[in-house]
Amino acid sequence: MEKRSQVYAGKAKSVYTTDHADFMVMEFRNDTSAFDGQKLAQLDRKGMVNNKFNAFIMTHLEAAGVPTHFEKLLCDTESLVKCLKMIPLECVVRNVAAGSITRRLGIPEGTDLSPPTFELFLKNDELHDPMVNEYHVRSFGWAEDKHVEQMKVLTFKVNDVLKALFDDAGMILVDYKLEFGLFHGDVVLGDEISPDGCRIWDRETREKLDKDRFRQDLGNVIEAYEQVGNRLGIVF
Ligand code: C5P
Repeated sequence: MEKRSQVYAGKAKSVYTTDHADFMVMEFRNDTSAFDGQKLAQLDRKGMVNNKFNAFIMTHLEAAGVPTHFEKLLCDTESLVKCLKMIPLECVVRNVAAGSITRRLGIPEGTDLSPPTFELFLKNDELHDPMVNEYHVRSFGWAEDKHVEQMKVLTFKVNDVLKALFDDAGMILVDYKLEFGLFHGDVVLGDEISPDGCRIWDRETREKLDKDRFRQDLGNVIEAYEQVGNRLGIVF
């Protein structure tokens, strides 16, 4: 498949059309951002690490029955993906309290959340991705009820699969964000799953091994991403 023109450049990834209308090329760049783009950096190897990490996780999920947009790795920093009509919502699941929920609800970081929480956020940079509920989604027509239901079912299925995967490798999947889109009318997992969009802690030491290392200036950001990948058996 031939890579053609760039159609979109986000904060960390760029998307290109191909000569097939159903497929796009997703490029993972070294650009790293936090706090709505207020903190920016270039981190060596990040594009390659996240591309391979995402390929591994998406392949694992697909094998477990979660439909994803991932098709195949093209090179170190690019993957072929299905072209989705994106639903403008972020689905966040939390197994352990960290990040915004600790500030919003005054819950101490590290509190186990059982059952896990499910939150929806509107994808809108200017509004700083506000939290919304299913009634907002319905009133404003951001997604159909049946699609929201499928997103929820798939998000919890992802949780079961990934919690076990990380647990087997001595890590805790604290929380993560998923985005979905429609492919010929079906709900399919899109975007990426990498340490940029998850919180992952070492199970024994509770050391942070994800983008919080960048947000909180803890250092060794990509080294931590690589450590997580290596523990899952990913070869970078
Ligand atoms: O900031 P917050 O605690 O709500 O984030 C929850 C999870 O979702 C974290 O793993 C974070 O990395 C991810 N997230 C994301 N992109 C966003 C918002 C949250 O990847 N725009």
